[in-house]
Amino acid sequence: MVKAMLFIDGSWLYHVRPYLLNLDGRQDFELDYRALPNLVRSYLITQLEMPVDLVRTYYFGTIAINKPGHDNVREKQFYDMLNKRCNYHTEIFEYDFKNRETGRRENCLEVGLSSTALVHAFQPGVYDVACILAGDLDYQPLIKHLRSIGKRILLVAAKGSAGFYPVHPKFTEDPNMFDFPILFLDEHLDKLHLQRTEQMRTCDSCGKEELSVFTSDWFYCKTCRDEYRLLRSRQNIEG
Ligand SMILES: [Zn+2]
Repeated sequence: MVKAMLFIDGSWLYHVRPYLLNLDGRQDFELDYRALPNLVRSYLITQLEMPVDLVRTYYFGTIAINKPGHDNVREKQFYDMLNKRCNYHTEIFEYDFKNRETGRRENCLEVGLSSTALVHAFQPGVYDVACILAGDLDYQPLIKHLRSIGKRILLVAAKGSAGFYPVHPKFTEDPNMFDFPILFLDEHLDKLHLQRTEQMRTCDSCGKEELSVFTSDWFYCKTCRDEYRLLRSRQNIEG
């Protein structure tokens, strides 16, 4: 049994998602985050021709703070969904907009991913294959260190199209970076399509029942959602 861990650079995925959705062409296309680890595992099984245990899926993300007019409740709900519904382990870093003027806009995402992957790499028997979902060169040192201690690397990325290069060319040109052919998400969109089914939900605010495709733990009916939106737009005008 080969053990693998999946490390997702959420910032990279966030930027590539619109491209993937557009590529699919379907208006209703949504990325199925539960299907993503399954796809990676199946791909590894095909490559290795042996059983694979995907031990854990890490998602490294950012959350905006001190951003004028921005409510980060949706980001919180998204990370909550990854935690509770998809069994991801999330590590979320604050992206502070207060210091934007001074040009200090960095967050700790790349270092967070790299250090977590390295810590586990040095714990005996935790994983054999690091699956890294990213496209930035920032991970080159991490990959080199992991390979120097015998870990195998699978890059999960997107192929892109004319004018859009989600993977840095230095990655693809260096023959000593990866142990498997890159798993391109663009080629597996059929397996990443979220299938939604309508079900009866009870509004957490007014108690009304309504058919909905939302699967979140909380649910607000359309009337309550519209009211909330109106309230927020008023607040924005006044504030
Ligand atoms: Zn309601």
